[in-house]
Amino acid sequence: MTHIARKRFGQNFLTSYTIIYNIISSIEAKPDEHWVEIGPGQGALTQPLLEQGIRLDVVELDRDLVALLKEKFKTYPNLHIHSGDALRFDFSALAEDDKKLRVIGNLPYNISTPLMFHLLDNAYCIEDMHFILQKEVVDRICAAPGSKKYGRLSVMMQYYCATELLFDVPPSSFDPEPKVMSAIVRLVPHQRPPVQVNSVALLNRVVTEAFSQRRKTLRNSLKKLIDEADIAALNIDPSARAEVLSLGDFAKLSNLLSESA
Ligand code: SAM
Repeated sequence: MTHIARKRFGQNFLTSYTIIYNIISSIEAKPDEHWVEIGPGQGALTQPLLEQGIRLDVVELDRDLVALLKEKFKTYPNLHIHSGDALRFDFSALAEDDKKLRVIGNLPYNISTPLMFHLLDNAYCIEDMHFILQKEVVDRICAAPGSKKYGRLSVMMQYYCATELLFDVPPSSFDPEPKVMSAIVRLVPHQRPPVQVNSVALLNRVVTEAFSQRRKTLRNSLKKLIDEADIAALNIDPSARAEVLSLGDFAKLSNLLSESA
């Protein structure tokens, strides 16, 4: 069965044996673990994952690929194939017996950010996640305060997870080749939040407003939400820009809002 890559499903299939080997070595899967692969495609990662003896659930949107996977892996009782949209999939329903899920995926670029946040809604049942994403997105996820790449994605992802860029994946590793460099990121949900936040929705709101116009000072970008004097009372400089604030600073701002709500 040959499959022609579909652009609308973000299909860039991994073909580099070296990259596949490096991914499998760095994730260190162990036989008693429960893994979930998002977008298995034609099985480039699925096959070596199954060989680790793990239980593997895969979620694939393209029905042609689901049929291909069912045929290709019919002799593997440890594989469970789910046909559907990972954005609507209830991952918590897979976690059983207190065994946390390990998640992996060479993600379709068009849904990568909402999908990561969808998974993080169930962070309590996830051990870790490894994703191949556009390198630019990985850089933003992992960026520290003060960096040009630091923004809403960095703050919100770092609230939920420890983040680490493992290695770059060049376009030549895929068929068809994407136009941009990719990278693999490791996300490990925090056991306990690194900062105390009263409302994640308010944290998200403050961070979104603060970065909506990066060049503006906090005094201006947060004008609609918080007075300049209240910002200063938190020991945060109102003339600073969002990009220098730590996660702890954003937590203080959002907690102030939650107290006055
Ligand atoms: N894992 C394969 C590989 O590395 O060669 C395929 C990766 S390809 C970049 C992305 C895969 O995600 C495709 O198989 C695509 O059909 C699938 N996909 C796209 N949107 C999806 C969605 N919303 N839910 C689940 N799978 C999706």
